[in-house]
Amino acid sequence: MDIKMLIGPKFEKGTETEEPILNPKTGATILNLPEASQAQIEAAVLAAEKAFVTWSRTTPAQRSGYLLKIADRIEAAARDFAALEALNCGKPINAVLNDEIPAIVDCYRFFAGAVRSMPGQVAGEYIPGHTSMVRRDAIGVVASIAPWNYPLMMMAWKLAPAIAGGNTVVFKPSEQTPLTALKLAKILADILPEGVVNVVLGRGDSVGNTLINHPKVNMISITGDVATGKKVLQAAAKSVKRTHLELGGKAPVIVFDDADLDAVVNGLRAFGYYNAGQDCTAACRIYAGKKIYDKLVVDLSSAVSTIKYNRPDDTENEIGPLISRRQRDRVSSFVERASELKHIEITTGGKPGEGSGFFYQPTVVAGALQEDEIVRREVFGPVVSVTRFSEVDEAVNWANDSDYGLASSVWTKDVSRAMATAARLQYGCTWINTHFMLTNEMPHGGLKQSGYGKDMSLYALEDYTAVRHVMVAHG
Ligand code: NAD
Repeated sequence: MDIKMLIGPKFEKGTETEEPILNPKTGATILNLPEASQAQIEAAVLAAEKAFVTWSRTTPAQRSGYLLKIADRIEAAARDFAALEALNCGKPINAVLNDEIPAIVDCYRFFAGAVRSMPGQVAGEYIPGHTSMVRRDAIGVVASIAPWNYPLMMMAWKLAPAIAGGNTVVFKPSEQTPLTALKLAKILADILPEGVVNVVLGRGDSVGNTLINHPKVNMISITGDVATGKKVLQAAAKSVKRTHLELGGKAPVIVFDDADLDAVVNGLRAFGYYNAGQDCTAACRIYAGKKIYDKLVVDLSSAVSTIKYNRPDDTENEIGPLISRRQRDRVSSFVERASELKHIEITTGGKPGEGSGFFYQPTVVAGALQEDEIVRREVFGPVVSVTRFSEVDEAVNWANDSDYGLASSVWTKDVSRAMATAARLQYGCTWINTHFMLTNEMPHGGLKQSGYGKDMSLYALEDYTAVRHVMVAHG
């Protein structure tokens, strides 16, 4: 197992506090990893700053070549990466191998192509005798900070557009899930010039805090909690750094009475509980029309009760445990508080799973009202609430009545109603008759307190580059 950080050309162990890295399926410690010292963080930022001088002047074709090599190496080591991610996150290995790794490989390949064909405004004479052109240039050193729910995928979403755009990176994985980042660091060191990507380990309030406050960091890209995003903004304000924030969600799912009930139930069973609901786009806040509501609750509860987890044969598992005891207890307390309300019925699940791992039963919370905590706050676990609505306006108003604005979906057979509803939703994404489907060509990112800046797509390349105007006077 790789345990060293990548700082410039060197692999080094951290020298500060040790953080236990756990197997969430059993609660056992896999190993302890020390975090980076202030001197090691400093060395990583300086290595990135130095590398920027030459890396930012490479051609798109050259950077594309590096990205393609990274993709090939991840693909070739897919089984090892999947095994490590499964160990550190508790995910079923087949989910990582069949869903995540192909998307990760494709992310590097997408940006390898995209950087060679960036669209832009035409050059021209907007003042007579002067030719104007627009350039998109790299920003500098990017501090990239990732969460624990999809460690290798979040690393891809952050690294690929950043280095494709000519930036250099100091990457900090979540202190809970650093193992695949350390493995990828070995591959990156083989392929990339030294200092282009550096990987440092540590907690948010120590190593993360140093990075976001570092005067030589030009941009901070973070995926995490809203509270963390606010700290990033405060740090960024001191030296006016660019920021890219992906900060969670509470996705509303509007199910009209004419929706295909089987498709809705199958969709919610898959998209509400994937990754044990630890997904910022999880279909977790259902608004069902008054005619479809009762049957939806019955069918959904029955479907959710068949979700396989915590089986000794991992190939049977559809979802894993939560990432930590703390997260499991947090989910548990949300459901406990909801179940104390008279109007709420827990129709399936509602308890922690058995054993020493951090499992929680896939849960449906029926009869929830708009003002209930379970409807308003991000649970980030295998818990879906169902709320009955009467009129379209009520559903749309409730869906929009949220601090979050990342993802949403609308389920109906009526195309006009679907389009009219989608147009009124204040979310970075609205799916119609599906949910959760991401593709590297399309942007992913939020509105409101879900943050701003897009992952994936050409829009991410825009976010990781700066628009510049160059004008030539020629008489
Ligand atoms: P978190 O905010 O606690 O941590 C995210 C990362 O930020 C970690 O690497 C952590 O070490 C670091 N961090 C924490 N405090 C910091 C600080 N003061 N300074 C610098 N870095 C700091 O979030 P988490 O618990 O790891 O992840 C779960 C959250 O992430 C959820 O709220 C989820 O909704 C969100 N999320 C959002 C998206 C998205 O695309 N919008 C994707 C995945 C996860």
